[in-house]
Amino acid sequence: MSDGCDAYISQLYTYLDGELSDRECAQLQAHLEDCPPCLQEYERDAILKALVRRSCTSETAPETLRAQILTQITTVTVTEVRVHRN
Ligand SMILES: [Zn+2]
Repeated sequence: MSDGCDAYISQLYTYLDGELSDRECAQLQAHLEDCPPCLQEYERDAILKALVRRSCTSETAPETLRAQILTQITTVTVTEVRVHRN
């Protein structure tokens, strides 16, 4: 790791929350491209955050998401029926 990695690592969660300024985002992204250890840390944090987000939303699945899934199931069923008829 090069100098300044600690500062970038400490920004990762803020970055993942989308709360860094544009300038800070650009600096962090540029650093991640040049620094595999930090990129690895970033990817780990991103995966963790995605998992946490999924487990948080599973209990209260939004109605819109449920409707989208139902629409997809309906579309698939209709397509299958058409295939069978042909
Ligand atoms: Zn670094």
